[in-house]
Amino acid sequence: MASRILIVEDEEKIARFLELELSHEGYEAVKAADGREGLELALEGGFAVILLDVMLPGLNGLEVIRRLRKSSDVPVLMLTARDAVMDKVSGLDMGADDYVTKPFAIEELLARIRVLIRKKESSETAENRKTLVWGALTLDSAGHTVRYGEDIIDLTKREFALLELMLLNKNIVLSRETFIERVWGYDYMGETNVVDVYVRYLRGKIDEVYGVSMIRTVRGVGYVVKDDKG
Ligand code: CA
Repeated sequence: MASRILIVEDEEKIARFLELELSHEGYEAVKAADGREGLELALEGGFAVILLDVMLPGLNGLEVIRRLRKSSDVPVLMLTARDAVMDKVSGLDMGADDYVTKPFAIEELLARIRVLIRKKESSETAENRKTLVWGALTLDSAGHTVRYGEDIIDLTKREFALLELMLLNKNIVLSRETFIERVWGYDYMGETNVVDVYVRYLRGKIDEVYGVSMIRTVRGVGYVVKDDKG
């Protein structure tokens, strides 16, 4: 399957050129002409690399990275103006993986894209081996599946993230604030008791079904999964 690459670039000439070159290399190129559209597409996921111009209408490239990094670790390669040193520094600070300066040589850009894809693939292989276990329950991080024995437990994205966080931090009591920050994100404005609601969902799908007490409440503090069989 062709790797998809998102091009966020408002200069039509550059965007078209990149699209042609990338297609020629066997990538599937998708274009966005402003920051807002670029961010939206990027958040939908499925891209191997994102090429991101800095000076963009709507949202600038730095703001796109900042928002994207709250929920995605997709490799981002910035396209910056030759003299915009601050853009490069801020971009890397915000979580961009690399940059090229305009005007760029296409061969260099393609080489950097290949490096980013390889890096990402090797980190995913490492992640693939990450299986978290609690008694008969196994959580496969990369495959996004949870099993109890042979049963597959059907969890929503948030339920999965909540459970994963607890299993990664076995024996450590996590506060509601920590859950909010790590599962819902810093800009979540709602009540922290949403955590209690999700813990209740998880207990309904796991603890109650299998007669275990995996998720323990620590009154006044938060929740913990202890390293035992319940
Ligand atoms: Ca631009």
